[in-house]
Amino acid sequence: MESNSQLQRQWADVQAQIAERAAVRSPTRPAQLVAVSKTRSAAEIEQLLQAGQRDFGENYVQEATAKICALRSSAPTPVWHLIGHLQSNKAEQAAQLFDWIHTVDRPKLLAPLSRGRLAHGGEPLNVLIQVNIDDDDAKHGCAPADVPALAEAILATPALRWRGLMTIGRQHEQSDDARATFRQMKSLFDSLQIQDPQIDTLSMGMSGDYLQAIDEGATMLRVGSAIFGMRPIKDSP
Ligand SMILES: *Cc1c(COP(=O)(O)O)cnc(C)c1O
Repeated sequence: MESNSQLQRQWADVQAQIAERAAVRSPTRPAQLVAVSKTRSAAEIEQLLQAGQRDFGENYVQEATAKICALRSSAPTPVWHLIGHLQSNKAEQAAQLFDWIHTVDRPKLLAPLSRGRLAHGGEPLNVLIQVNIDDDDAKHGCAPADVPALAEAILATPALRWRGLMTIGRQHEQSDDARATFRQMKSLFDSLQIQDPQIDTLSMGMSGDYLQAIDEGATMLRVGSAIFGMRPIKDSP
């Protein structure tokens, strides 16, 4: 576990980099930072909450449950994002715990997500469609061609609110490979936004490539190790 001050310093450093990069691009608003807290403790999350970070990303429903419950009465309360692959049998539970699901990639998830959210009550669940834009076998996500039908199905499902798209950049030594992926995602996002102006979120960019993601038009970044330090166990995205 990083010391309190070191963790807050690393977080402040990432926030400063985002602000600086955004200023170069001068978008209407800087990209929103989701702090990826998988493998990290509720106590560490609490430290960042106190520093001003609101959005946290988790990969596994089971791991997140204990942390979400532990921080339920903290002030302010975290906004929770599920960023890992979602199994159908966990979808109903996920819809009751998280505020955002970034990894909707097949129609089969929609009924259990809707059921869980209706049981939970309150605001509709924010959902992003995960797109595997480089057709990489190692990654989940639907093909770009499948996005319109999936979006239509989400829009027709009670208690779900379609907010946009998510992708994981290519992980190569050449960091510019991620840039090409991000550029393709931005153009897909723009074409969908023309038809559905209510979508406002393009989630892309991790510790190794979040500055490129900002350049290419990300509105939401998912950054873990640059804030929390290296994870103890190697964890596939
Ligand atoms: C783990 C993870 C991240 C954060 O990764 P870092 O390289 O630690 O910033 C972002 N997105 C997804 C989908 C992940 O699984």
